[in-house]
Amino acid sequence: MSTLHCKPVTSIDPPPPLLAAEDGSFSHRPIEDVPHMTDTIVRDAVLAHVSSNICWGLTAAREMTILDIIPSSAFKYELETCTERRTAIWEFEPYTGQLIDTSNFGASPKPWDVLVVPPNPYQNGQVTVEVPHSARIINCHDCSTLGRRKCWSCFGNGEIACTTCNESGLTLTNSSSVSNSCLQCNGVGRRRCVVCLGPGQLPCKTCLARGKLKICLKMTVSWKIYGSERVVEHTSMPPILLNAIQGRLAFQEEKAAVWPINFFPDEAVNHASRELLDQHRLRYSAEKIMLQRHAVRLVPIYQIAYLWREHRDYFYIYGYDNLVYFPGYPQRSCCGISEYLCNIS
Ligand SMILES: [Zn+2]
Ligand SMILES: [Zn+2]
Ligand SMILES: [Zn+2]
Repeated sequence: MSTLHCKPVTSIDPPPPLLAAEDGSFSHRPIEDVPHMTDTIVRDAVLAHVSSNICWGLTAAREMTILDIIPSSAFKYELETCTERRTAIWEFEPYTGQLIDTSNFGASPKPWDVLVVPPNPYQNGQVTVEVPHSARIINCHDCSTLGRRKCWSCFGNGEIACTTCNESGLTLTNSSSVSNSCLQCNGVGRRRCVVCLGPGQLPCKTCLARGKLKICLKMTVSWKIYGSERVVEHTSMPPILLNAIQGRLAFQEEKAAVWPINFFPDEAVNHASRELLDQHRLRYSAEKIMLQRHAVRLVPIYQIAYLWREHRDYFYIYGYDNLVYFPGYPQRSCCGISEYLCNIS
């Protein structure tokens, strides 16, 4: 049965958050060191990287002297917040004798006390429920309980002007100037209304001609997942490269509401945790936080200093798959022509 809204949607403020006391029992594993990097692994990674670039010469990769390998770690802090939002609106529908849950059965619960079972966590979803004991019967506002309304076509007259004779009751024949009685309206000038077929009234659609409506409070409960991520690293690697790889899990925690982490040796990670948690708390303050999960992933980064034919520079190897970031590779043209021409040939 169709329902209609009769008042604007009202957003219901969430109850104050119940943040459990910090118990200090973070179940994190020790932060592991980055894997050892050797000259052989570096050279293999660079050779593979150079081979995948069609215009890069392999000689530099083969001949370069690896001067130094400086290991470091990038950290990816990830935060997910599951929230619930409740809004309410009065809705009405035709009352046709159905059983309704009125206040005779008890007082309506407060909006956040209405029992609604959420879907699986970390999934978006929405459900609309009738607030218990909120229903009542009211008179139909569109027909004042009559069950019928004035016909929109004839305005209740039951007849409309005849357009064939323009309400004159007479028509002219083509061959002469003699007027004949209009056949469409039998010379009356008006015709029976084709919408209501005469009575000038139509059944009220709002109440299905019953004259009564059931009105009740409908509550929409919606669940959403919000995710944020922050990469913490101290090299000149473009963050977008680190965003694209997953890294290895160093810490993970899930609670009704998590506290910012405060134990990472790199204070920037602790800071990122505080900042993103504050952001989520403020940004989603109109919603109730149901569950939070945060994690720190570790991505090893090695800065490699090298020398090739008087050319001294550095590049990076990163991630557990030894990916290479080598923006200044010194032998970018293999065939003596410019890199651009080489690429388009
Ligand atoms: Zn009505
Ligand atoms: Zn007519
Ligand atoms: Zn009519």
